[in-house]
Amino acid sequence: MTHQPRASFKSPRFAQPATFMRLPHVEDPKGLDVAIVGVPYDGGTSYRPGARYGPREIRNQSSLIRSYSYFQKVAPFDTFNVADVGDIDAPPVSIEKAYDAIEARIGTIADAGARPIVAGGDHSITLPVLRALATRHGPLGLVQFDAHIDTWDEYFGGKYFHGTPFRRAIEEGVIDGTRFIQVGIRGPMYGEDDFDFHRQHGITMIDIEQVKDRGIAWTIEEIHRVVTGPAYMTFDIDGVDPAFAPGTGTPEIGGLTSHDAQRLVRGLAGLNLVGGDVVEVSPLYDGPGQITAVLASNLMFEFLCALAK
Ligand code: MN
Ligand code: MN
Repeated sequence: MTHQPRASFKSPRFAQPATFMRLPHVEDPKGLDVAIVGVPYDGGTSYRPGARYGPREIRNQSSLIRSYSYFQKVAPFDTFNVADVGDIDAPPVSIEKAYDAIEARIGTIADAGARPIVAGGDHSITLPVLRALATRHGPLGLVQFDAHIDTWDEYFGGKYFHGTPFRRAIEEGVIDGTRFIQVGIRGPMYGEDDFDFHRQHGITMIDIEQVKDRGIAWTIEEIHRVVTGPAYMTFDIDGVDPAFAPGTGTPEIGGLTSHDAQRLVRGLAGLNLVGGDVVEVSPLYDGPGQITAVLASNLMFEFLCALAK
């Protein structure tokens, strides 16, 4: 393929401006199979800020990732033409304007025939990505890894923030509730009626106790049972336990391990995936060694390999 990561025997891994996995940076997605794109926007955050710095740190920490997946038995850069198309310049002062910029750029990427892998940004950014992809593929199935349901209705009277994207996505018809599965849900809720919307729209939820009791293989089977047709993966890094992923906006204890997360993303191979994202990485709160950004970059690599299989 035309584009390959910069050779680590010619250029040390810590040299040169950071791009995802040291891939070439190109502006024009034409000719790409997969486009890596950052969305440095966190205006939809309700608690700790800083996810706007996620894309830069994910790129920085992706420099060590080697290009062959031994566990997935795939070399994605031999299968796909992949490049880093840079960031979407989402205006930081208006969520509606940010959504317009995100939807437009993702649309350009999709129209070029490339599948986007998005580095967020807070979880509010997934809605305009889904809008752009559903315009082209029809209503999508969705796999959401998250501690939180993100199907609440509003916040301080606002319809758009990182707790509402999937309610809006169902209301707008861009995702199909019966092909939507949430994995890793936990933490205190407002009440049992938090799940009324799930019942009304046929959403499948696998909470963290089910994942831990019934296992990763069972969880992957459930994902494949529910998520048919064109589909999208959204990975909120707070789905992983804050012991492994402290650098995030709304931490919830008792979550997935980083290894659980790797195996779950690997298990997506075979779905008809039109794109995906990893969101809610806030480097301001990250632990020693930037472990959250290291994890996020590796989950993006596992997702790329799952696409390539
Ligand atoms: Mn969350
Ligand atoms: Mn979320």
